[in-house]
Amino acid sequence: MSVVIETQDLTKVYKGMSKAQDLVALNKLNIQVNEGEIFGYLGPNGSGKTTTIKLLLSLIFPTGGKMKIMGNPNITSPEVRKHIGYLPEGAYYPDFLRGEEILSYYGNLYGMKGASLKKRIDEVLEVVGMTRARKRLIRGYSKGMRQRIGLAQALLSDPGILILDEPTTGLDPVARKEIRDLLIQLRDQGKSLLISSHELLEVELISDRVGILFEGVLQTSGTIDELLTSREFSIKAEEAAPEATQKVREAGLITEDAVAGKASLRVPETMSLYQALDICKSQNMKIVSVSPRRETLEEVFVRVVGSAVSSKEAQRGER
Ligand code: ADP
Repeated sequence: MSVVIETQDLTKVYKGMSKAQDLVALNKLNIQVNEGEIFGYLGPNGSGKTTTIKLLLSLIFPTGGKMKIMGNPNITSPEVRKHIGYLPEGAYYPDFLRGEEILSYYGNLYGMKGASLKKRIDEVLEVVGMTRARKRLIRGYSKGMRQRIGLAQALLSDPGILILDEPTTGLDPVARKEIRDLLIQLRDQGKSLLISSHELLEVELISDRVGILFEGVLQTSGTIDELLTSREFSIKAEEAAPEATQKVREAGLITEDAVAGKASLRVPETMSLYQALDICKSQNMKIVSVSPRRETLEEVFVRVVGSAVSSKEAQRGER
């Protein structure tokens, strides 16, 4: 497995009027995107995601550290840049053009023309499922269709790497699912994708690995399985009278659901499973299942970003 994007101690400081006003947007960032994977690049607004993307695209330049694309440190060279397709956040296309005209315009920008450009436009329209709508004006496209044309544009030069900024933001649930399926399909065809997003569920559904950024510092990264460890257990019980449910709650179990004598309980991290089962038994509940409970990406995110915030506050307090 080869690494297609790699940053080493990548640092970006936006200079202010004085040193005190300098803003460290990225602080010694180390991330890797492997060939053929979807890497979900997560962080709240202002955490440095776009700065990273701009650095990788050489739209801005680093203050320190290194970047390699396809193993090549010379990331500004056309040889390297032709491997990257980019979809900016909320890509805007003029309303009065047709889908295929947009692609033709971008193709010309990439130096493509004639029959080979026409053939490639046919291919990418097919990939994103827009062949039938190719001659319609952008004005009549739904947001999902616009996003598909954006993806088709990013795919025009047949790049191995796709960098997509918030690709599903602002789409309705059906369009989101369609774009997600498309991204998975591209991954399965061997493309490597870096997807920046603050929409955690979207990312959890499709990413192979994720990195969580906060205030320019990578807080954690790993495969979804590594990050979503089962730190807690779920217990399903029957014959749970309302008073019994109340009692187990008072004893420290978390009630996720309790209807018609059936209760779904969560064992908090601070309590052992045996303790929890004893509490249920003491209330004569009939235990029907016990299973490890996987954290959601949202919970990991809140935990990781929350602890970064509190350690910053503690540091400030010490000063
Ligand atoms: P994200 O994409 O995660 O929302 P950005 O990379 O856009 O984050 O921003 C990271 C930080 O850098 C923010 O505090 C932002 O205000 C600051 N920033 C971004 N661009 C500039 C710039 N051109 N000049 C000064 N500060 C900037």
